[in-house]
Amino acid sequence: MSDVVGRLIEIFREMRRELEETGWLVDDPESSKWWGGAESPDEVVITAILVQQTRWEVVNEVLNRLRALGLNKIESLANVRPEDLAEVVKGVNYRFTKALRLTRLAKAITEIGGLNALKLRSDVRDLLLRQDGVGEETADSIMLFALNIPSIPISQYTRRVIGRALGVDFGGNYRAWKDYLERLLPRDLYVYKLFHAAVVTIGKKYCLKDEPRCGECPLRGVCRHAQGLKY
Ligand code: SF4
Repeated sequence: MSDVVGRLIEIFREMRRELEETGWLVDDPESSKWWGGAESPDEVVITAILVQQTRWEVVNEVLNRLRALGLNKIESLANVRPEDLAEVVKGVNYRFTKALRLTRLAKAITEIGGLNALKLRSDVRDLLLRQDGVGEETADSIMLFALNIPSIPISQYTRRVIGRALGVDFGGNYRAWKDYLERLLPRDLYVYKLFHAAVVTIGKKYCLKDEPRCGECPLRGVCRHAQGLKY
């Protein structure tokens, strides 16, 4: 299996341009720009909440408005009224709920000393998961892309692409997928970010739910499904 994983990572490295075309800006391991060009860890956290059930294009427009108003910082959001924020984030789905969740999350992070302090806590994941609107995938995305803690987010694309490519299936068991992948991958920030970006890109472009486009997929040479070995 380690040979296959090595080949997967090699293929993902070669996808750099394709990842950038789909919004994942491959950069140095510590950079927040991976996450749709986010200019700071604060912007990763903010957009990780806004993007739930909303298209990236809409989130980008909203992010530009937040930047213009100086509301692209956790500390500023902690002091804004949710009803005022809901006006600024017009366009995202569930904007009132998200505005409330964002201001509460911003307050919680500010109270413990900001993102740098959050990163140093041993209970960072649990603390994030205790926040309203932060599920496992969002918590892991914030850890990986905002806090630079190697923690793999499991998305619907991870399940589909890796399930088909490696012939594994843990169903809806988030923890089982996460444990499996974190055992398989070298614990390296760059590899984790690259892996997530590539899997989401492949899941959106090639590994479609009903009719996967295996003939065009970068994984066709290693994928068990494409080779008729499973599924
Ligand atoms: S080769 Fe086909 S089944 Fe395998 S990951 Fe690509 S699109 Fe999905």
